[in-house]
Amino acid sequence: MDALIEAIVITNDRGKIERCNKAAVGMFGYSQEEAMGQDISILMPPNEEAKHSNYVERYRRTRKARIIGIGRELNARRKDGTIFPIHLALSEITYNGTVRFIGLIRDLTDDKKAEERTLRLHTDMITASRLTTMGEMAAAMAHEINQPLAAIANYASASERILASRPDDIEDIKTALHHIKTQSHRAGDIIRKLRSFVTPGSVDLEPTDIKAIIDEIKPLAEVDANANNIAIYFDVSTNLPKIVADQMQIQQVLLNLLRNGIDAMHDCNPEHRRLELHCYIATPHNIRIDVIDHGHGITEEAGKNMFLPFFTTKTSGMGMGLAISHSIVKSHSGVLSFSNNLSGGATFSVMLPTKMAN
Ligand code: ADP
Repeated sequence: MDALIEAIVITNDRGKIERCNKAAVGMFGYSQEEAMGQDISILMPPNEEAKHSNYVERYRRTRKARIIGIGRELNARRKDGTIFPIHLALSEITYNGTVRFIGLIRDLTDDKKAEERTLRLHTDMITASRLTTMGEMAAAMAHEINQPLAAIANYASASERILASRPDDIEDIKTALHHIKTQSHRAGDIIRKLRSFVTPGSVDLEPTDIKAIIDEIKPLAEVDANANNIAIYFDVSTNLPKIVADQMQIQQVLLNLLRNGIDAMHDCNPEHRRLELHCYIATPHNIRIDVIDHGHGITEEAGKNMFLPFFTTKTSGMGMGLAISHSIVKSHSGVLSFSNNLSGGATFSVMLPTKMAN
């Protein structure tokens, strides 16, 4: 027992510790002598002690085990009071008519830390890529915000002129003020959308309205497309079922695909500069979103490496957009795929489930 890396604690059928190995001493901080005869609940967080006593009592009466033979992740408590995550595999042995429980315990602290690090990295990457997308869109946004600002300035000067020359003309001034109000709301809207998009949020998979997701990104994509002389069409079926998704992340994926479509049409003739987004029910449990461009299409080389981080054929590309989009869609139990169109250009498709994966 002492040669094992995993901690072993043996109790009698009343939950009193009878033996433990060296690994258990190292893990929990009680010496073997200290542990002997103590209730097993000394190794549990305070809020679980009572639950455990009830559990042992019930097991003695009914012999129905909830954990025995299964193994499970729990929290444990060291002698110094610190709580840490463990994996506990519990088995029961009967020897000469006496029942004992053997607990095999693995400290999961390092596993959990690694898990958290990976999750944090994933979130950081998504934020970084979102900022890059926004960076790429910033020029178009600045232009878009400038328009209402210029309109506001014009209406304000016009009002000044009216006040100077015909101060009784209240109606004209009222109209100008109304326009100023509308235009400032328009500028505010753009800024609000931008801000909500770049602020990282937590990842929440929940039933989400795909139409609402698309409606949110629509103005951003339209501004970007207009600035690049590209016509953009959105075709979203009515009565779509909800998808199980994190709204922000799916917005990120769709904006990425639209952005790539715009880039791919950079050198296209005016008649081909058209970007389309179609959203519809593809199978009884999946919604599909196709982003179709009429650009240069996907080369064999790009097709092989598309989802790899840092693969880019653009001079100022980062090559992270599709790698991140791919991992986001995968974490939604969905599929991101692409193909060349017969009539030129490429289609990127996102399939997303309408039911939570088990
Ligand atoms: P980036 O846009 O920074 O290059 P991405 O990961 O978004 O990074 O894209 C990787 C590469 O995939 C692009 O550089 C381009 O070669 C190719 N690609 C992406 N979208 C399209 C598209 N719609 N049409 C053709 N090629 C594309």
